[in-house]
Amino acid sequence: MEKQTLINKLKDAVGPEYVLHSDMDLTLYGYDASLQKGKPDVVVLPNSTEEVSKVVRLAYEEKVPVIGRGSGTNLSGGTIPVKGGIVVHFSRMNRVLEVDLPNRTVTVEPGVITLDLQTMLLKKGFVYAPDPASQKVSTLGGNFGENSGGPHCLKYGVTTNHVLGAELVLHDGTVIWTGGKSQDNPGYDLTGLLVGSEGTLGIATKIMLKLIPPPEAVKTMLAVYDAIEDASNTVSAIISEGIVPATLEMMDNLVLKAVEESVHAGYPMDAAAVLIIELDGMIDGMDRQAEKIMEICKRHKVRDIRLAKSEAERAALWAGRKGAFGAVARLRPSYLVCDGTVPRTKLPEVLSKVLEVGKKYELPIGNVFHAGDGNLHPLILFDERNEEMLERVHKAAAEILKICADAGGTISGEHGIGTEKLKEMSLVFSENDIGFMRSIKKAFDPHDMWNPGKVIPPASA
Ligand SMILES: Cc1cc2nc3c(=O)[nH]c(=O)nc-3n(C[C@H](O)[C@H](O)[C@H](O)COP(=O)(O)OP(=O)(O)OC[C@H]3O[C@@H](n4cnc5c(N)ncnc54)[C@H](O)[C@@H]3O)c2cc1C
Repeated sequence: MEKQTLINKLKDAVGPEYVLHSDMDLTLYGYDASLQKGKPDVVVLPNSTEEVSKVVRLAYEEKVPVIGRGSGTNLSGGTIPVKGGIVVHFSRMNRVLEVDLPNRTVTVEPGVITLDLQTMLLKKGFVYAPDPASQKVSTLGGNFGENSGGPHCLKYGVTTNHVLGAELVLHDGTVIWTGGKSQDNPGYDLTGLLVGSEGTLGIATKIMLKLIPPPEAVKTMLAVYDAIEDASNTVSAIISEGIVPATLEMMDNLVLKAVEESVHAGYPMDAAAVLIIELDGMIDGMDRQAEKIMEICKRHKVRDIRLAKSEAERAALWAGRKGAFGAVARLRPSYLVCDGTVPRTKLPEVLSKVLEVGKKYELPIGNVFHAGDGNLHPLILFDERNEEMLERVHKAAAEILKICADAGGTISGEHGIGTEKLKEMSLVFSENDIGFMRSIKKAFDPHDMWNPGKVIPPASA
């Protein structure tokens, strides 16, 4: 089919004003928060499942790729149209469809912004727990696609632990439901398979999420260290004492200095590292737990440990952490975020190897990460306009992921594989593992039209 004929049919499906195809529009939808770039053939903004189904059916008949898109904040190239095709942008499908407090569920369309939902639910006395640092802008559809994590996921689990079910559009436009409000759903756990599949098996048009009550009390502490190693050892010690705080986040000197200059969160600029340790839960016993944590911090040479005394102080500590990726723009025009996970006892060893990689490739590397999960985010700082430097950045990133894999960890904690880590899949999966993933992909997507070129490396790679 001619491109213009496809565009006309898409206009019939979703309405002419919701089909974008000017050169400017296609360029704008050609990138995300990764370093990759591509270009779709056309962008559609559907308003209902029925419209998504019509678009997908057309794509299926014409064997045209379909790429689901929320806010495009993923960090691994997950929304890059590497083979052109139709970008389905969910910004108009942003309704909260049902809040069922007795059953503690909420059902949303994929374009709902994560923080908007959380703010709305809190007013009703409930919490949707996963809190990616991008929650002000990320969508629930994107969180579903990436199986997103966040600071509080140490205690509460990542997105998949909070998705109860979903309405899915399959490759030929068929609509199905997986999961639901029951505790245990019979049959295959298709919801579990789809969460984190980065739009490569189907797209969600409705998502049912679990609600939990908010904690009775919260205590947030800032622990300041003169050595990263001491901060890392504190993390392992807290967990091995049987305490699971709500968050255990770490920032090193390079990052915390940039953050302090931009957000004024109250971090000491001369510290080697800080930990943000948050406890939440029942009031009873919380003081005792906080004292225990302070004692562990002291055992590991903490220089200073401060308890946030007011909601404003607590908010400032978090504004710093959540603004960290933005703040490093003060240091260099571009950054690449690596996302690897290691057993938390390996943090000191792996962090020092990461710094060695920075020295080897003459690139500044800062660290801001979910230390409790052992989920590292080395930020490699550079200038994208310098091609030779960009090459060094990619080499350094690949080396860091290998260090994580060699330490018994893996190549992603929450940012997915996308296009950026296809080569690294072989560091943690055998050819048999990857072959089996290919056969699942084929069963869901015989013509490779769902977000092609992502997650699974091509057979020849
Ligand atoms: C400053 C910053 C901080 C971040 N912090 C975190 C963090 O703490 N934790 C974390 O996990 N991530 C973090 N991220 C990464 C990113 O925000 C998350 O991956 C987020 O879930 C992406 O949401 P989005 O709406 O932007 O999705 P997009 O980037 O638009 O899409 C992400 C993936 O989901 C697929 N997708 C989109 N909609 C659907 C759908 N309806 N059905 C199926 N698949 C779909 C897309 O095809 C793509 O593969 C951060 C990013 C930035 C820029």
